[in-house]
Amino acid sequence: MIAIAIDGPSGAGKSTLARRLAAQLGYVYVDTGAMYRSIGLFALRAGADCGDEESVAALLPEISLELAYEDGAQHILLNGEDVSEAIRTPEVAMAASAVSAHPSVRAFLLDAQRSLAARQNVLMDGRDIGTVILPHAQVKIFLTAAPEERARRRYEELAAKGQSVTYEEVLDDVRLRDYNDTHRAAAPLKAADDAVLVDTTGLTFDESFEKMLGVIRARIGG
Ligand code: C5P
Repeated sequence: MIAIAIDGPSGAGKSTLARRLAAQLGYVYVDTGAMYRSIGLFALRAGADCGDEESVAALLPEISLELAYEDGAQHILLNGEDVSEAIRTPEVAMAASAVSAHPSVRAFLLDAQRSLAARQNVLMDGRDIGTVILPHAQVKIFLTAAPEERARRRYEELAAKGQSVTYEEVLDDVRLRDYNDTHRAAAPLKAADDAVLVDTTGLTFDESFEKMLGVIRARIGG
């Protein structure tokens, strides 16, 4: 099996690029952020304090996550409900960031993510794929971009969906999530020693795509 690990902070264009690369290569795309977001959504709906590990851990036995693929697009099912759209709000992003700091939540998802990679070629994106989940991945890319550029892209994405947020709010969010993700004790966001760093600041989508494809092909051929 071949595994490609793509890690990096939010808004570097990871999921769009990862989805397109997986389609190009014929690999299964696994968006691990969607799994954390689904747990965050469940915790919000349950009225739990996302920052409190005990409260969140108590909910885990009630959560079943499934990935389904429709025309190559990943859908995530939370206890059978397709929450692919519902998890794409700033509120759920913050909840995901909070619940993802808990070791019990990370342990809950570790096995699920590893078993997906054990049975098929995958391109998996997240924060700790190259460092913790798939340390033996044949290709590891750490994708990043300046915070202002990541905030601008996310802002445009949210505005296009009609969500009423300001650029400043999105930038604050990006900075706060970066801080949380890189400073948590459990699996903090950092590049694996053997990851190739790709900075997409100032690059178009196509340029970023070609750059990443070049890195992948240099490692696995094709
Ligand atoms: O990538 P996305 O923005 O959907 O991720 C939502 C949150 O889930 C991130 O802010 C991060 O805290 C968490 N996450 C994580 N580990 C992963 C993927 C996401 O901690 N592998």
